[in-house]
Amino acid sequence: MAEQRVAVVGAGIAGLHCASILLENGYEVVIFDRENEIGGRMRTKIVDGFQLDRGFHVMQTAYPTAKHIFDHKSMGSRSFDPGALIVDSRKGKMKIRRMADPWRQPIRGILSGLNGFAGVSDLLKVARLRSTVTRGTIDSQFDGDDNTTMEYLRSFGFSQGMIDRFFLPLFGGIFLESDLRTSERMFRFVFRMMSKGRMALPRDGIGAAPATLAKKIGDERMRLGVRIGSLESGAVRFRGEAHRFDAVVKAFSELPEDTPPRSVWTMHYDAEKAPFKSKLILLNGDITNPNALVAHVAVPSNVQPTYAPDGRNLVTVTIVGDRAVAAGIQDASAIDAGARADLGRWFGDGTVSGWRTLDIQNIEMALPETGAGVRLTHKPRSGPGDVIECGDQLLHGSVEGALLSAEKAADEVMNQLRHPTGVDERPMRRF
Ligand SMILES: Cc1cc2nc3c(=O)[nH]c(=O)nc-3n(C[C@H](O)[C@H](O)[C@H](O)COP(=O)(O)OP(=O)(O)OC[C@H]3O[C@@H](n4cnc5c(N)ncnc54)[C@H](O)[C@@H]3O)c2cc1C
Repeated sequence: MAEQRVAVVGAGIAGLHCASILLENGYEVVIFDRENEIGGRMRTKIVDGFQLDRGFHVMQTAYPTAKHIFDHKSMGSRSFDPGALIVDSRKGKMKIRRMADPWRQPIRGILSGLNGFAGVSDLLKVARLRSTVTRGTIDSQFDGDDNTTMEYLRSFGFSQGMIDRFFLPLFGGIFLESDLRTSERMFRFVFRMMSKGRMALPRDGIGAAPATLAKKIGDERMRLGVRIGSLESGAVRFRGEAHRFDAVVKAFSELPEDTPPRSVWTMHYDAEKAPFKSKLILLNGDITNPNALVAHVAVPSNVQPTYAPDGRNLVTVTIVGDRAVAAGIQDASAIDAGARADLGRWFGDGTVSGWRTLDIQNIEMALPETGAGVRLTHKPRSGPGDVIECGDQLLHGSVEGALLSAEKAADEVMNQLRHPTGVDERPMRRF
């Protein structure tokens, strides 16, 4: 029997993983992407010897599916340290305090409590939270209540100060929204992953993850720079012509118009001297101040030296899109000026004015909406309609969500091709 051919539309991590499974199972695949490069939301570009990821993006080493696909040793990954640095100007004087992870570094954790950042009671609650979210299976963290993250943290008993100074800048910068309206299920999942593993950066940048999959698939199966205008279960249409396949996978999302956008601005700066030496993320503990913009700052080159050329440092700054909108900021020069104002207060205007802007990225439609009440689960679901679909929009906005959905889509394709139901006469879907 002739080899069965599958078209996969979208060369993000989901489409690539789905294609590589199909290939391993003896199907022929062709991958289309409208961009001229693979990776979708996981890309890295080189600028003057710096590796600039698209947005601040890490690999969670504890993701159960990702762990079987990516070998961090051969990817040369290096990890951030647990804990955080926190900007705190509560008493009118700006201080950068270190908050240790009370579970992994109990002595330091207690000391950081005494150091005035968090009360000992909040630190004990962090330890209890870790024990709660690491218990049982991942699925069990998706059972039960489905309130907002903010409601969950309050009901867990954290002080508002701890929420505002620690959880809000950290998880606002992860969920890409500033109210912590994201489902508590997503919060429990991410906190579990952070508790069980590390946040790592591959030697060649975040783009190394899709590149690893693309290598298994081979360039000859990629059709880049091809925007698919419509697709159905047996064909894709581009440049005015329908191209027939035995099956088609849609590996991208179209967000409904009424979805609140989750977007982010990321600034990458070249600094002669790193603003801090540790392998920690610096959180803006003053993020509830109405003028505050920056959620967090990382120095990726402290963690993974390949991110900057010798003698230089890469500083990566995250501003959640809704903060920029609230401040009326719409363009790159205004966001750069806003970021530099926050950074100048923390590290000194003289220091920050010497930093060269390498790139300013405005990433729209960065994550799918996963607000409270959406009954988020960890079981991948099928896409709507008759076309087989994968991508993080079908599960939750994470690399793990994208990979799991890809495995389900690959199963659906194999099932469909083993049990064909005849020619599909339904009209093509256009986008
Ligand atoms: C700034 C940022 C930081 C993040 N940080 C993390 C993190 O630290 N940890 C984590 O787990 N997750 C993180 N994520 C989420 C993670 O990147 C995504 O969940 C994941 O990359 C989604 O992959 P995907 O394949 O589902 O979608 P995408 O990567 O969006 O891939 C879809 C592909 O389809 C292509 N396409 C769309 N329409 C068409 C068309 N008509 N024809 C042809 N091609 C088309 C697109 O060009 C794209 O390449 C982050 C996301 C962003 C934006």
